[in-house]
Amino acid sequence: MTRIALIAHDEEKPEIIDLVYEYQEMLSTIDLVGTGTTGKRITEETGLEVERKKSGPLGGDLMIGAEIAENSLDGVVFLRDPLTAQPHEPDISALLRICDVHDTPLATTRSSAEFLLDGLARQFD
Ligand code: PGA
Repeated sequence: MTRIALIAHDEEKPEIIDLVYEYQEMLSTIDLVGTGTTGKRITEETGLEVERKKSGPLGGDLMIGAEIAENSLDGVVFLRDPLTAQPHEPDISALLRICDVHDTPLATTRSSAEFLLDGLARQFD
């Protein structure tokens, strides 16, 4: 089963909700995991089921990183706020690094997320 992670910083949460609406049909056919608040908002606002890890500042990014280290994830959409310093920046860097180590596709903006999801969708055809 295809499994992807969805994460968004606070300023980017409306954007990830909008993205999930755009890809709702495809996302409803795969396993979704997310950091705590992002996952909660996606489920509340779109009805999609998301396995929720801890909130990002409490270790959720690291929990998702651990899944990447175990090759359990096919991709990560992480809409980051490039303009606001995050208290858990070291955890975020660790997540980006482990994606590189395992060549796990990672999108950090709306347009790259669309490419990633389109690419994954093509694999189903
Ligand atoms: P959140 O975490 O979904 O719990 O807000 C995201 C993050 O800041 O990494």
